Amino acid sequence: MKTKIAFIDRDGALIEEPQDTFQVDRLDLLKILPGVIESLKLLRDQKYKLVMVTNQNGVGLTCFPTATFVEPQEEMLKIFKENGINFERVFVCPHLQEGGCDCRKPKTGLVDYFLTTVDLDRETSFMLGDRETDGQFAQNLDIRFFKVKTNKGIDLESLKSFISS
Ligand SMILES: [Mg+2]
Ligand SMILES: [Zn+2]
Repeated sequence: MKTKIAFIDRDGALIEEPQDTFQVDRLDLLKILPGVIESLKLLRDQKYKLVMVTNQNGVGLTCFPTATFVEPQEEMLKIFKENGINFERVFVCPHLQEGGCDCRKPKTGLVDYFLTTVDLDRETSFMLGDRETDGQFAQNLDIRFFKVKTNKGIDLESLKSFISS
């Protein structure tokens, strides 16, 4: 059976992306955006597997110690879980752009191996994100793109009509 997957960006799409540092590295910076919980529940109910795909510039370096990434990340996943929302996989590229790694979106290195383990339904699967690079990632996977505005949340009705179109 083919698998429906919603690939989902994190910062600016699910949670607020600070526009100064672009890093959510403290618990008090964690803000889940409007409509996110409802939208993830909709996708879950529509039998989508949820796969998070996020670039996190320099996690593990002095400027962004791993622990400061992990704390708000785990809190976010806990809040989702309390709402009955479970991510099948969470993929993080921790590299800087200049490193030229193969896993930074829009490249698909983060999910290439995972995609050998599932039969991806390219008709219904899609990428949700707020940046051009998320759109290019969708193109590279040959799936559709649902664009959201940075830090504006997810409009449930638009998402509903997107997945039924
Ligand atoms: Mg983003
Ligand atoms: Zn990377």
